[in-house]
Parts: sequence; C-alpha cells; structure tokens
Amino acid sequence: MHELSIADAVVRIACAHAAGRRIETIEIKVGHLRQVVPDSLAFAFSLVSEGTPAEGAELVMEEVPAAGVCRACGVESEWSGFPLACAACGGLDVELVRGEELLVDALTMEGVPSG
Ligand SMILES: [Zn+2]
Repeated sequence: MHELSIADAVVRIACAHAAGRRIETIEIKVGHLRQVVPDSLAFAFSLVSEGTPAEGAELVMEEVPAAGVCRACGVESEWSGFPLACAACGGLDVELVRGEELLVDALTMEGVPSG
C-alpha cells in the first residue's frame, strides 16, 4: 500500500518538528501525480501515528494539480486528470513542473499558536 509509506514519512516529519509536543493538525500538500487516495491516506495515517505525538491529529490534505510546459510550443498547462497533454497544441511531450510534491505544509501543536 502506497499510502502507508507516505503516511509514515508525514508522521516522521511532523514528530521531528513537534519535539514531543502533541500534534493537533497536520496540513500536507500532495501532488496530483502521486495518485494518493485521501481515504486510504487517512487510514494509513491513523495506523502509523499510533503511539506517536501525532496520534489523533487531524490530517488535512491539499492536492496540488499537475502542471507542465509543452516542449513543442512552450505553453504551460495544468491538469487534474490524465492524459497530460498540452492545452494549446495537444502535444504529449511535456516537461512537468508541478504535481509530484509531498510536503508537510503546516503543523498545529498543543499550546503553540499556529503559523
Ligand atoms: Zn503545445
């Protein structure tokens, strides 16, 4: 299960930042091309966060649309699905610029103001 390794990475990053404080909210950004199923990720998160400061935290996932620049005409396109074809000329030879992100964007911890 692909989501399990992503959840594991998120929990490790969050716990490192929390330094033992209890985590209330974790906001993550996930690129569309990672094909993460939000329900599966939430389930995987509840498994791997057990017994860590992230246990019981709310996981807020924001999906980053995929985007790329066409190598034929230079136009940038954005996609929320497949195929990844240029919006201007329909070409499939595109250079990806977004969509493979996986990052922890923000954490809210007990007794610490967010921001
Ligand atoms: Zn094009």
